[in-house]
Amino acid sequence: MKLETLAVHAGHAPDPATGAVTPPIHLSTTFERAPDGSLPHGFIYSRYANPNRDALERCLAALEGGTAAAAFGSGQAATMTVFQALAPGDHVVISEDAYFGTIKLVRDLFEGRGLTLTLVDAREIGAVEHAIEKNTKLLWLETPSNPLLAVTDLRAVAAVAHERGVSVAVDNTWATPILQRPLELGCDLVMHSTTKYLGGHSDTLGGAIVGREDDELFSRIRSIQGTGGAVPSPFESWLVLRGIRSMAYRVRGHCANAHVAAQFLARHPAVETVHYPGLASHAGHAVAASQMSDFGGMLSIQVRGGAAEALRVASRVELFTRATSLGGPESLIEHRHSVEGPASRTPENLLRLSIGLEHPDDIVADLKQALG
Ligand SMILES: *Cc1c(COP(=O)(O)O)cnc(C)c1O
Repeated sequence: MKLETLAVHAGHAPDPATGAVTPPIHLSTTFERAPDGSLPHGFIYSRYANPNRDALERCLAALEGGTAAAAFGSGQAATMTVFQALAPGDHVVISEDAYFGTIKLVRDLFEGRGLTLTLVDAREIGAVEHAIEKNTKLLWLETPSNPLLAVTDLRAVAAVAHERGVSVAVDNTWATPILQRPLELGCDLVMHSTTKYLGGHSDTLGGAIVGREDDELFSRIRSIQGTGGAVPSPFESWLVLRGIRSMAYRVRGHCANAHVAAQFLARHPAVETVHYPGLASHAGHAVAASQMSDFGGMLSIQVRGGAAEALRVASRVELFTRATSLGGPESLIEHRHSVEGPASRTPENLLRLSIGLEHPDDIVADLKQALG
């Protein structure tokens, strides 16, 4: 089945008890055992598994072409679980332009507990090879990256990692499975902040890990999910599954609008650089074209005139909302350096844009008046 069809149908079926076409939300925390003590529906207690979360996990596994999926209460909880599945003494390699919160999480919560970490420019295969040590267990990638839209060649980097016995995880939040399927490119785990394009409406927080194999690493992840309990509620699971149903078409709209905005911004005299892999001038354009079916709805710009000018542009937008996050119907703009704080590697004149589903003419008109 094609992705559009999977997005509508995977994890969905009319409710056998009532015929309801839209699934009910199962708030029950506990499930009845049969007289012989067995569990006729497979559910025991909602921290371990719940019908709504189960449906979401089946859908996510199908969309990413994986064997198994585990849903969490946030993207960060999903990421944290992968690092919790490693052991003290293990070494991890993380792409240096990964989401700021990922690096912060590993530094703040794991570095003092025996995990060591090396940051690399994952665009350089040689740098990744060089960073891998004897005790390296995991390579964490994000492409396109946040907020510079750096593109990593997933096939090539996964091959190098696997030669050394290193598992590869990819934060696929920005691309979504509609545009990029890392497991098919040879990677082992996919992470999502379902808060973004999957939920798609800026109204639910969630995360997920999808595994290519239901192997030892994935079973540790699932065991931490059930034991630690950083799980989404039935309602949040339901909301993400609902969002996914229209995702293929929403993502298409985000991409089309981002193309228009990127073309406009690339010609604007107040803009120094546009970071969007869909532009032929972008350093990662060819690799992105080889592993993505389109280039996504996120872009960032560096404006002439430094931080002050970037903040001035952000202060002038009318249609765009000044807010963090991404992947909702509304266009958002954010001065990333201010959000990330003093440790930020993000250029001070950078603005990150989540291009929404408004009409592209209105998006461009707002950017034009704000830059003007
Ligand atoms: C938002 C985001 C996260 C974190 O997810 P939360 O749902 O906010 O915990 C991780 N990676 C990327 C790329 C993100 O955009």
